[in-house]
Amino acid sequence: TTKRAYNFNAGPSALPLEVLQKAQAELIDFKGTGMSVMELSHRSAAFEEVHNEAIARLRKLYEIPENYEVLFLQGGASLQFSMIPMNFLKEGQKASYIQTGAWSEKAFKEAALFGTPVLAASSKENNYKNIPALSDIQIDKDSAYVHLTSNNTIFGTQWKTFPNTGDIPLIADMSSDILSKKVDVSNFAMIYAGAQKNLGPSGVTVVIIRKDLLESANSNIPTMLKYTTHSKNNSLYNTPPTFGIYMLGEVLKWMEEQGGLEVIEQRNEEKAKYIYDAIDNSNGFYFGHATKESRSLMNITFRVADEELEKKFLAEAKEAGFVGLNGHRSVGGCRASAYNAVPVETCLALSEFMVKFQEDNQ
Ligand code: PMP
Repeated sequence: TTKRAYNFNAGPSALPLEVLQKAQAELIDFKGTGMSVMELSHRSAAFEEVHNEAIARLRKLYEIPENYEVLFLQGGASLQFSMIPMNFLKEGQKASYIQTGAWSEKAFKEAALFGTPVLAASSKENNYKNIPALSDIQIDKDSAYVHLTSNNTIFGTQWKTFPNTGDIPLIADMSSDILSKKVDVSNFAMIYAGAQKNLGPSGVTVVIIRKDLLESANSNIPTMLKYTTHSKNNSLYNTPPTFGIYMLGEVLKWMEEQGGLEVIEQRNEEKAKYIYDAIDNSNGFYFGHATKESRSLMNITFRVADEELEKKFLAEAKEAGFVGLNGHRSVGGCRASAYNAVPVETCLALSEFMVKFQEDNQ
């Protein structure tokens, strides 16, 4: 049997074994075409079916209303940091940014190239340990939009309730928690995410965008960077990342087969709880980075109180087959990313390893 790692990578990250096996089985001859999906023309009927099915599955799973478009773009979530202000900010116009981590900072910085981003709230002074309280968010009424990061991959915090921005479009970077739980899509004018954490391999960026926002976009921008270019062409204006879209469709199908978002959400809660329990029951041997109310179910960030022991912990965890537990290079410590495709057993194994390590070392 194949040995699968205990994969806690932050992204690209674990994919469901069943999906990998299906892709393997279909690799040489996809549905009688005599070729792999990678070798199909993106204009062929066979690929078009893959493409449209992936969009339909996403719409159904996330209950995306009719007045939204689903786009598959390239350039990662990082290109969205630029495309958003390029399309929706006019020179001199303001946009409100809620700063909850390094990715929010990057998004803010890009907006400054096209208009005037203003901070609606920030938890930077608190070393991004928390999501700001809704009552502390001050949205400039003249904002073209409000931008937030729903899950902070590096610091391990996650929004539990989103602000109501009224008539001002709310745009969310959901790169690290998209489709990990139910979300009311209609609360947002736009949601975007790189696929490489919860949805598939890297190379595809999912954009869910309300049609009225699309129609308000600036026109004096490069063709490929205009959302309407892609919406008018069903994301087939140029060659899309065909294999990534196929994999994304298969991951969505796998999610349906698991029982849909409710089951996925419950499982994610159970998975994170195993690891947070190991932290909370350790009498301070381990401690979390995020405040309890802001804890992420996707990225669990923690430290071993003793620095030498932390090095030993990471080394022994690696030895024991756990992959990806080193914290982001900018913050250090430990981080376990438990995205949708990370099995419950993997999280249980880490939790048990943490308890055992504590017993052996305190
Ligand atoms: N936003 C968030 C929340 C992320 O976690 C990441 C990647 N880790 C990005 C944006 C950047 O994504 P990409 O690498 O797809 O550009």
